[in-house]
Amino acid sequence: MSRVFSGIQPTGEPHIGNYFGAMRNYVRLGEQYGKQSLYCVVDLHAITNPAASDPRYLAARTFDMAVANFAVGLDPSQVTFFVQSHVPEHQELAWIFTCLTPVGELERMTQYKDKTAQLESVPAGLLMYPALMAADILLYKAGVVPVGEDQTQHIELTREIARKFNHHFGETFPEPQAVYNKEALRIPGVDGHGKMSKSKGETSTLGILEPLDSVWQKLRVAPTDPARVRRTDPGNPDVCLIFDYHKLFSDLPTIELVNVECRRAGIGCVDCKKKLMEGVTAHLTPIQERAEELRADPSYVRDALAQGAQEARAIAAPVMEEVREKVGFLKV
Ligand code: SF4
Repeated sequence: MSRVFSGIQPTGEPHIGNYFGAMRNYVRLGEQYGKQSLYCVVDLHAITNPAASDPRYLAARTFDMAVANFAVGLDPSQVTFFVQSHVPEHQELAWIFTCLTPVGELERMTQYKDKTAQLESVPAGLLMYPALMAADILLYKAGVVPVGEDQTQHIELTREIARKFNHHFGETFPEPQAVYNKEALRIPGVDGHGKMSKSKGETSTLGILEPLDSVWQKLRVAPTDPARVRRTDPGNPDVCLIFDYHKLFSDLPTIELVNVECRRAGIGCVDCKKKLMEGVTAHLTPIQERAEELRADPSYVRDALAQGAQEARAIAAPVMEEVREKVGFLKV
């Protein structure tokens, strides 16, 4: 059976875009692949961005990301969930891949260009980021990689690195396939300005662990169909982000009711938002309660991460042995 690998950035509280776009998919794949699905909080990647990896918060954010994923239903006893820096083989393999990868190919990466555009001094780690990502995936010989579409170029490079390694040192790594979840791209920010994104700040996001009254305050003032000026004006749910959210959180009869009543001004926007809030509350309350339980029992989370790292290393160690031998390192 093929393995699944996905890296999760420890960058603050996940929002509903992360939840519907990635986290729910992890749970689904976890049920399908069991221990062969590996999820890794990528703290080594996080430190390539000094602004997002303040040492005062990095450990807490890593811990919180584990809590959030466990709270949405990822069961660490059923999948392999760990922290990247707890498995040093990632760095060892990344170095070997760094030595195989032309600088020109790394400089071509769109994300690298975007991230460095505003920097006066570029950390070498930012350039090597895709080599570390290739190591994350290939260390487990993973065949399935659930990612966002912005990672297409990195996955292509991973496949290229696998081919190059196999060509130089003999058949070792499979070429992984990216599995995209397009739902993530369609979730608009609550401020109405494009896709929901952490980089745009809290006004764009609805956090899955955000207090529900704060969620409501954001929904209350969220933009609706701009053509619907008065309560008596018919609206068009197809251009309204509140209707997009209904499709995520509400049951079918509610979605249908909003779809019909909005168009004939049979429902006002405030009532429509209140109905949405019922779905949001039903959805997020059990997740938030579970997160509270996990935070109250930090040793459970730490033990689960220690166990996950052990399981990951049990897969990684023989792969690294094979790699060291093929690369030609002296064995003593
Ligand atoms: S009734 Fe609902 S779907 Fe229609 S414009 Fe108002 S908030 Fe949007």
